[in-house]
Amino acid sequence: MSDSEIIGSVLAADQYSKAASVQEAGVVLLNTCAIRENAEARIWGRLGELQAEKRRRRASQQPPLLVGVLGCMAERLKARLLDSARLADLVVGPDAYRDLPRILAAVQAGEAQGSAAMNVQLSLEETYADIMPVRQDASRTSAFVSIMRGCNNMCAFCIVPFTRGRERSRPLDSILREVEALSEQGVKEITLLGQNVNSYADFSHLQQQQQHTSSSQTYQATKQRHADPQQQQQQQAALSYYAPGFASVYKPQRQGATGFGQLLDKVALVNPEMRVRFTSPHPKDFTDDVLGVISEHPNVCKYLHMPAQSGSSSMLERMKRGYSREAYDGLVERARQVLPNVALSTDIIAGFCGETDEEHQATADLLRRTRYDNAFIFAYSQRGKTYAARHLADDVPAEVKSQRLADLFAAYRQGQAELNQLEVGRIHLALLDGRPRRDGQHSLQGRSCSMKRVIILEQPVPSSLRALQQHCEGQRLDPQQQQQQLYAGPVSSLGTGDYVAVLVQQVVGSSTLLSVPLARTSIQEFAAVLGSTIVSADKAPAWLVQQGAAAAAAAAAAAAAAAAAASGGASDGESQQVLVAQG
Ligand code: SAM
Ligand code: SF4
Repeated sequence: MSDSEIIGSVLAADQYSKAASVQEAGVVLLNTCAIRENAEARIWGRLGELQAEKRRRRASQQPPLLVGVLGCMAERLKARLLDSARLADLVVGPDAYRDLPRILAAVQAGEAQGSAAMNVQLSLEETYADIMPVRQDASRTSAFVSIMRGCNNMCAFCIVPFTRGRERSRPLDSILREVEALSEQGVKEITLLGQNVNSYADFSHLQQQQQHTSSSQTYQATKQRHADPQQQQQQQAALSYYAPGFASVYKPQRQGATGFGQLLDKVALVNPEMRVRFTSPHPKDFTDDVLGVISEHPNVCKYLHMPAQSGSSSMLERMKRGYSREAYDGLVERARQVLPNVALSTDIIAGFCGETDEEHQATADLLRRTRYDNAFIFAYSQRGKTYAARHLADDVPAEVKSQRLADLFAAYRQGQAELNQLEVGRIHLALLDGRPRRDGQHSLQGRSCSMKRVIILEQPVPSSLRALQQHCEGQRLDPQQQQQQLYAGPVSSLGTGDYVAVLVQQVVGSSTLLSVPLARTSIQEFAAVLGSTIVSADKAPAWLVQQGAAAAAAAAAAAAAAAAAASGGASDGESQQVLVAQG
């Protein structure tokens, strides 16, 4: 569950409910991010607007509006938010949400002002493990599950370790219970969340074991282990937790912990028909065992976020990222080897302290060569307390940062356009999640396992991929005949929450896949019939490609006929094109 859902659960347990609008609310809570200055600027703007609502209520003698600032900005600015301007009435950091009802009650009763209306204590243990989620929108097919909090990495530019505190992982059992509950509620896709999600390390089982072992036994066992050189060597080997070439500034304590690979494996097994994603990972923790688990489970999405930050080794060193360009390139190669057709995304920072033109060009080169499906590119924004704010000069002029941002964006788009060419003719497994805003009457939309938006025309499809396969293969028609021969078996209509096999016809915008629906299916059936959740155009079986062509032709003919009927005239190819491209 996300922080907003944790806050929602804590307040729901205290009889609070969600208001439909600010005008109807007694309390407005802003859940904030402090990672870049512009994220904070938006919150200052919002606080200004809420002041106006507060004044309006005072003037019309209505009950007052209470405003709370929650999350990372609360942690960063603390009492400054409660100063004389009283932009906020309460301030609660990311580890103190359980204290919200108490603080709210005290502020409402007029008993708490200033520091009494604030809790920004960071915790070494808080994971909100026992809080059951109140999903923000229960009709959605997807849900978030928080598995760890905080970060120990101390990248030179990043405020997260200061606003979210030390890294700590939620016990495996409580995660699995939440995933099972979501599966029972019919959720079709979960995203595991954490500031460093794949750095997950749960020790709760060891603590339980320790409770059952007397301290003298533990002492003897530890003494023996330390005396045995072979065991020492094994321990040392187990300590190389990172992908080759990656390191971290801190010494992780992970001996005996349940790691991310094991967690992912167990989560994937809860319901093989529920998709699993995760964010935000750190590249160092994409070890072979994690890549192996992703490859093994058809329901774990083949989409990896690999924040590079820069393509220059000297810059990566200044950023204290713990890897070189070569190590990063090696990891990308390994990921593409283990997970063919995997989609990759990244985070990049433009104009970090002392960035030379050569270092900037190395990052543009990384974006062009690696060819990401998605990239989040930010101008460097100095944040107080970080290593960079204390020791490095923010010396790249604003206009140079903007120019570099634009250059990097162009380099990313070039790589993405090349990848998009490979999409036409691919077969994806899409999970439908609603209707597109445009042409919502005739179309459905969903996501591929590679996170691409998929749009299909709404039309009946074979009720299973296997039925379609048997039908097509059983016909033994020559390709010419088969192309004209539409499937004639049982059909299903499609809706939100269904998995559908689709054939990509065209990529519109930066990455929307206009596609033909081939058959309703399931994750397991798709993987069993086609061997993967993303099938390259050159590996797509002929029977399916032919069915796709026949279905596309039928849909275009139906659309043309409908357009002709609506206009009272004859139709042509152009009207078919318009309908398909409208998504
Ligand atoms: N933990 C992930 C990692 O290190 O790979 C990334 C998570 S971080 C919360 C999200 C992204 O915000 C970072 O990858 C970075 O690109 C960006 N970011 C963090 N601090 C920033 C800053 N001071 N200025 C600009 N972007 C920043
Ligand atoms: Fe920030 Fe990610 Fe570095 Fe942690 S690992 S300090 S979250 S950028």
